[in-house]
Amino acid sequence: MKIVRDHLQNRLHGICRDCESESTEFYMTSRELWRRALAGTYRTGVLCLRCLAKRLAPRQLFAEDLSNGTGGAGSLPRGDWDFTDPASGTTFKMQYKIGFPGREGPPSIRCERTYYVLDNTNDNDLPDAFLDAGDDQIAWLWDYCREHHLDLVVDGETVLVLGAKIEIGTNTAGRR
Ligand SMILES: [Zn+2]
Repeated sequence: MKIVRDHLQNRLHGICRDCESESTEFYMTSRELWRRALAGTYRTGVLCLRCLAKRLAPRQLFAEDLSNGTGGAGSLPRGDWDFTDPASGTTFKMQYKIGFPGREGPPSIRCERTYYVLDNTNDNDLPDAFLDAGDDQIAWLWDYCREHHLDLVVDGETVLVLGAKIEIGTNTAGRR
């Protein structure tokens, strides 16, 4: 786990048209794919990654479909997510990058998280409520990997192999 001290940065906000969550995920996709995702519904707006993926199902998302808008196709879409501890008023941030599999590459989704403690606080403990809510933010990846039979690697640790949970304490990883 990486913890970085930082100040609040300017962020891009949008409300996801489907789940109405405040989406701070930043990604770009091709005009063709975006048209397909919005087909028959809206002309403009924001979709969080989860809802984009849901709309395109059963088509799987590939790295080539997405970019973070700066690094070209295949670069990781990025999300910033804030949490203010009601007890202390301290704000924490989780930044996460989600890497979808390349068309030629191994069938795995990689998610890297960085945690930030914002403002001037001496408190370095990350509250459980923050960590739990942060987990919720990316929980859909588990379902997505099960659906598409992908590996899931979170913070460098493989948690699913081809969509199946790894059995701890056995020699065979839980392959389907
Ligand atoms: Zn959404």
